Amino acid sequence: MTKAASAAAKDLAAAGVRGVQIAWADNNGIPRSRIVPVGGLADAAIRGVGVTSLFAVFDTHDVITYDQDVLPTPSGDVRLIPVLERLRRLAGQRALAWAPGRQVAADGSRWPYCQRSVLERQVSAAADKGFELLAGYELEFAVAPLGSTDIASAPGHSGPAYSPHALVRLDDFIAALLHEFDANGLSVGQLHAEYGLAQVELTLAASDPLAAADDQLLARQTIHAAAHSHGLQVSFAPLVTPDAAGNGWHLHTSIWRDGRNLLGGDGTPGPEGAAYLAGLLRELPALTAITAPSVPSTLRLRPGYFASAYGFWGVENREAPLRYVPGSALVGADHANVELKPSDASANPYLALAAVLAAGVAGIEEELVPPNPISADPGTWTPAERESRGVRRLPVSTAEQDAALMASPTVPDVLGEELLGAFRAVRGSDATWAADRPIEEIVRAHLWRY
Ligand code: GLU
Ligand code: MG
Repeated sequence: MTKAASAAAKDLAAAGVRGVQIAWADNNGIPRSRIVPVGGLADAAIRGVGVTSLFAVFDTHDVITYDQDVLPTPSGDVRLIPVLERLRRLAGQRALAWAPGRQVAADGSRWPYCQRSVLERQVSAAADKGFELLAGYELEFAVAPLGSTDIASAPGHSGPAYSPHALVRLDDFIAALLHEFDANGLSVGQLHAEYGLAQVELTLAASDPLAAADDQLLARQTIHAAAHSHGLQVSFAPLVTPDAAGNGWHLHTSIWRDGRNLLGGDGTPGPEGAAYLAGLLRELPALTAITAPSVPSTLRLRPGYFASAYGFWGVENREAPLRYVPGSALVGADHANVELKPSDASANPYLALAAVLAAGVAGIEEELVPPNPISADPGTWTPAERESRGVRRLPVSTAEQDAALMASPTVPDVLGEELLGAFRAVRGSDATWAADRPIEEIVRAHLWRY
């Protein structure tokens, strides 16, 4: 370890890099970090860098909530250790390299609040059962001139949605983005001007879950840096105005065994892929508590925005929270995947992937059978029609999300008792903050947090 870290540090120093940023995401999906000088990398790789244990109970507004039993005092320190296999130079921030961090207790033992370790555990538990997950994110974000206080008063593009013309004025930024994604080892599937206000979307190629979560953090950093150096700033927040389409970070997953994609099939998934999907569907309300957990997340999940609002699945149905994307002769059978739409930047990507993986694998183990897919938008149905088809509204508040989370037989165990306690406390703190505030203020307060 020391040898590898020393060699890496030497290479970085020779390339002009001065510091290594070690990043993780907190329970609000907000990236946090420490920078160590390149000369300190080898030491950090072994002993870690000290950070307060209270990051587990930071809320979205940087308020530490002591209103919980698990970390009730300001005392305590954990060690943040860079994951060296993922160390990269940052093309857009030339003096820096970047690595995701793992948190361990001060004595080096497991720290139950480390979100990356939660995902590591789920990946390894799934591997023990013979399953592998592939995951890829779609990232939507709104662009505005640097120094903007909101998006609406100076949108970074004025559409039309999906138009090449919308992006002309962002040409230098887009060029830098594509270059820096490539240089940072991130693989872009495609990029376009999205439907929302000043919105751009890019997709990341699918990879194993840990890489997908690490890369999602690195992608944010890369986009922020490219925007900043071109006089722009971006918002990844779930909502950028109370009314406009929000920023979804849809999560595409496929589940594999023995090199075979179980979601592949002739237009619909085979039995095990269907059981995976049924597992996600059963846990959907609890999953949203993890994958779309902020106050603006719940506001984003409205009917008619392709963001999803009701619990059901469909084949290529853009209103479905679970959109089955089939393979085909053209794109290949292995292209098949499920898109989870109630997913956004306020989710911790490690926890989101861990919860999704556990819910899907439970579905396979229990041989669940999903109901028939729905091709319509249940938002246009009467309440009685929805009731008769078993289609329920996804949780619309933190309280409803919390109730769904605690009713789940699977998701709480994924987090474990301590992290679950911290996570719920943080959600409660956010909800209390938002309780008497108008939606405009809530949206504005989240705009630049992610
Ligand atoms: N912006 C939509 C959302 O909030 C998604 C639009 C789409 O990609 O279909 O998730
Ligand atoms: Mg989109």
